[in-house]
Amino acid sequence: MTQPSHTNLSTLPLSKAQQRMLEALARRRFFKLIGGGSFTETEKIAHLAKSYAMAGVDCIDLAPDFDVLSTVETVLSALPQPHPVLMVSLPLDPDPHFRKIELAEADCIRCGLCLPVCPTEALTLPEALEISQSLCYGCGRCVPMCPTDALSLLPFQVENQVHNALSHPLVEAVEIHSQYVDPFMLDAFFQRWHLLLQNKLIALCFRVDTIPAEQIIRFYQTAQAHSRLPVLLQIDGAPMSGNDDPEASRPALDAAVHTAELFEASSLPIPIITISGGINRHTAQWLQQERYQFIAGVGMGTVARKAIWSLSEPEAIQVATDLMSGFKAR
Ligand code: SF4
Ligand code: SF4
Repeated sequence: MTQPSHTNLSTLPLSKAQQRMLEALARRRFFKLIGGGSFTETEKIAHLAKSYAMAGVDCIDLAPDFDVLSTVETVLSALPQPHPVLMVSLPLDPDPHFRKIELAEADCIRCGLCLPVCPTEALTLPEALEISQSLCYGCGRCVPMCPTDALSLLPFQVENQVHNALSHPLVEAVEIHSQYVDPFMLDAFFQRWHLLLQNKLIALCFRVDTIPAEQIIRFYQTAQAHSRLPVLLQIDGAPMSGNDDPEASRPALDAAVHTAELFEASSLPIPIITISGGINRHTAQWLQQERYQFIAGVGMGTVARKAIWSLSEPEAIQVATDLMSGFKAR
């Protein structure tokens, strides 16, 4: 497969952090920490951001939440080394990355079956079931565990946060998540937020699934037409599904190959493609294979967060460094 070509970076209006990020993508060693589009627990976010920034992460992807962004700004500004690009995630449509759990209290029989599956310990059962809304990032693991259907997922409303998030001085990249991959909705989004999107790196995150090839290409080209900087495609495998299974990243890897082939079949250059959804340390070995050489890097969420969740700061930095090392050594 043809390798994607990368623009001459010296001709672009880039910050130093953006330049470093694009260089990591060009070397196919890009690693992004996904904080989670709905994850708003500031104490945990501070720990994650500091640990992964100290370990040399290229980008940190966060919820469009004022407290989250302020917390990370404080953390990063106190660090001695250059900071990673701060990316904010936004939904273009009812995307699954923007959800929170809801409990129908009257239906809960307090069995506790939902507790152990939650990756962020958002559920506790002192007497009645309690939910930490800031810890919940809407992964949905708890829903099928409930014998009484007391749990459901509701949209995490971020509409009121978009302006503040895009105006934040440290936000230099935006990831637009979409379930429908609709070029007209994307065009309307750019028209609405045009001024605040200037000079930001744009990533488009979606699942390929059954979306027609022509629609995927037009979606990408719509973003390209609105951006002076390179546009990234983050191809999602199984969203928020991270675990230690060596096969967990196969859906994302296969979807990335499929996407690259769509562009090749239309005689178009392959875009900068990264993968997410099911990424773990085994993904680094998969990326060594010839057929995946075009993939510019990964976004890791659940596994990256869980790896350092309860560790002290020095331990967390070491574990984060080890976790990223396989991707940085490609
Ligand atoms: S399992 Fe997922 S959806 Fe359920 S409470 Fe935990 S983070 Fe939220
Ligand atoms: S699994 Fe359902 S019934 Fe059991 S504690 Fe959780 S919400 Fe309540």
